[in-house]
Amino acid sequence: MDDMTLLVDLHRPSPRLGPGSDEQTRRALDLSGLRGRTDLRVADLGCGTGASSLVLAEDLDAHITAVDLFPEFLAELERRADALGVRAAITTVAASMDELPFEPSSLDAIWSEGAIYNIGFATGVAAWRHYLKPGGVLAVSEITWLTADPPAELREHWTAEYPEVGPASAKLAALEGHGYTPIGYFPLPVSSWLDRYYRPLQARFPSFLEQHAMNVNIVVARFGILPSR
Ligand code: SAH
Repeated sequence: MDDMTLLVDLHRPSPRLGPGSDEQTRRALDLSGLRGRTDLRVADLGCGTGASSLVLAEDLDAHITAVDLFPEFLAELERRADALGVRAAITTVAASMDELPFEPSSLDAIWSEGAIYNIGFATGVAAWRHYLKPGGVLAVSEITWLTADPPAELREHWTAEYPEVGPASAKLAALEGHGYTPIGYFPLPVSSWLDRYYRPLQARFPSFLEQHAMNVNIVVARFGILPSR
């Protein structure tokens, strides 16, 4: 198994594959003005196993196209949608968020939680706007400084990992620069990281390690034979 397959397998059982919660998705929905409208076309980009798609399908009169690179995540999304009784409202598409299969001006809303960083915030919002109808809504979550003066160690780490990291004001300015009118934003509570993302992932470690013990042994064996070559 390659690293990516292992990463997918580690994450698949979790409720979310990034920070967020159903409650916070609903809070963004409240801001969006989409509630009460009918026959909406919505895309969830980097949908993973469907954390936000499922809430959107439950709360909106909408058809949701859920897009992710990994078919294994989409299969899990379909299973969860079946269980919730919202399968008919969702179409899954295995595609990259920078090569989307949508017509220009065809979507009422684009949703993307914990995923736009894969192509970068500025690149994403610039590319995606073309798929929105006039007045269409973008809801996106993004790693963001909550203070002007974060600890040096954290600033160094994140600037190296994701040079676009910045405060919310920079993200709002980027949105305005690309023709959007910000409706509002809110920081995710700490529980959205710990309770919905990190702790479920941590709970999966023992079964994951047991399941893949073979892979770990093979890696160790390879290291073991190197010096005698
Ligand atoms: N929105 C989900 C998943 C967030 S994790 C949630 O909140 O739980 C980020 C997701 O982006 C993963 O599912 C990953 O497979 C997907 N992804 C990464 N690069 C991508 C790309 N280029 N195109 C589409 N999806 C991508």
